[in-house]
Amino acid sequence: MIKKILIANRGEIAVRILRACKDLGIQTVAIHSTADADAMHVRLADESVCVGPPPPRESYLNIPSVISAACVSGADAIHPGFGFLSENSTFAHMVEEHQLIFIGPKADHIAMMGDKITAKKTFSKFGLPTVPGSDGAVSNITKALKVADEIGYPLMIKAAGGGGGRGMKVAKSKTDFAEAYETARREAGISFGNDQVYLEKYFTNPRHIEFQIMADKFGNAVHLGERDCSLQRRNQKVWEETLSSALSPDFRDEFGRKVAESVGQLGYLGVGTLEFLYEEGRLYFIEMNTRIQVEHPITEMITGVDIVREQILIANGDRLSLSQEDVKFQGHAIECRINAENSETFIPSAGTVVNYHCPGGPGVRIDSALYDGCKVPPYYDSLIAKLIVYANDRDQCLARIRRALREYVIDGIDTLIPLHLKLVCHPDVIAGHFDIHFLEREFETGTDL
Ligand code: ADP
Repeated sequence: MIKKILIANRGEIAVRILRACKDLGIQTVAIHSTADADAMHVRLADESVCVGPPPPRESYLNIPSVISAACVSGADAIHPGFGFLSENSTFAHMVEEHQLIFIGPKADHIAMMGDKITAKKTFSKFGLPTVPGSDGAVSNITKALKVADEIGYPLMIKAAGGGGGRGMKVAKSKTDFAEAYETARREAGISFGNDQVYLEKYFTNPRHIEFQIMADKFGNAVHLGERDCSLQRRNQKVWEETLSSALSPDFRDEFGRKVAESVGQLGYLGVGTLEFLYEEGRLYFIEMNTRIQVEHPITEMITGVDIVREQILIANGDRLSLSQEDVKFQGHAIECRINAENSETFIPSAGTVVNYHCPGGPGVRIDSALYDGCKVPPYYDSLIAKLIVYANDRDQCLARIRRALREYVIDGIDTLIPLHLKLVCHPDVIAGHFDIHFLEREFETGTDL
């Protein structure tokens, strides 16, 4: 059995992983930059190692430092969390080379899904519907224009190596296409070190729906239902819920089984998420994330499955603790991402948290690394807390969110709490009528189209 895990992350996800380790009786090693010496994840871990100065490249993304920290502390496994090195196949490979267990999929599968073109081709081969578009990369403008005419406008130009809501350009019509295509290629080369781009039909009012999966080394694969992550800003999720009102139980069951089967056929190991766009009753695959996701807790709330625990046990070589028949969905759960950002301008906010008061009561779970007097440094992702609310049905869930948001006090920095209060009181959100462009349309935060 794994005895000691090094958690190669920070913030709320590092704390979440620590908690799963403690429940399993596993020792924990935190890593931190000099800016995070007093952070919650460092305080809660059994041991900690400073891996470098504040800039992520020199600390949390510094592979030699992170692996050395695992070796000197005697850890037998590394959990990468999300972001940072979690989808870096070279890192996963190097971890294994050092006789350490990487808590995630095989390096080859990370690389395969990191290339969105290969990911689409792979799942299309397994029979999943994908977003209509070019058959692979389009490497010059002449070919691109021809393919664009076949797909029709509006369309999206996407970087094969894109991620985190970046590397996407919309062309409304043929007039915009050439410029959008060239910009997309140039930016992809600079940002992702890979200038390959592909084209996709641009959906004008889809929902974002994703399936959570888990698979063990014995070929067992299950799905844990879907999450509706349509409330987004700049292609980044802000609010997620499960189950989605868009899918009927029969559709979910049939489609979910297909998703789990394809993951099983792939020989995938660990937890992951297949993302789809949903329009007019149909789902179209866009990409797979080969790691734990920010929004995993809502699935935990309605299934009772501790996904991080399962992830660790799968990496340990255990069988999944449940079969598809054992997966039952109960109630409704919603997550509000509390980012350290101004609720109107979305400008990131750093500083010291004061007067911290966390909501509680029935159905309320907070995943965060905040405490009164803690520092929110300017160097990292702005996600500082997740308000996760569970209730028997969606209406009760919304009422509990309102109650919890009004109780939540985070002073000293700006947060998205005021935005979530507006969202949870908005008639369309209450009615469940929204698509991926809703938030930008309603709150005038600027949209591509
Ligand atoms: P990333 O890896 O950067 O998160 P995704 O491929 O998952 O990129 O897309 C992120 C978001 O961008 C989606 O949730 C959706 O809102 C939007 N998006 C992606 N592809 C399309 C498309 N073909 N049409 C319309 N919106 C899209």
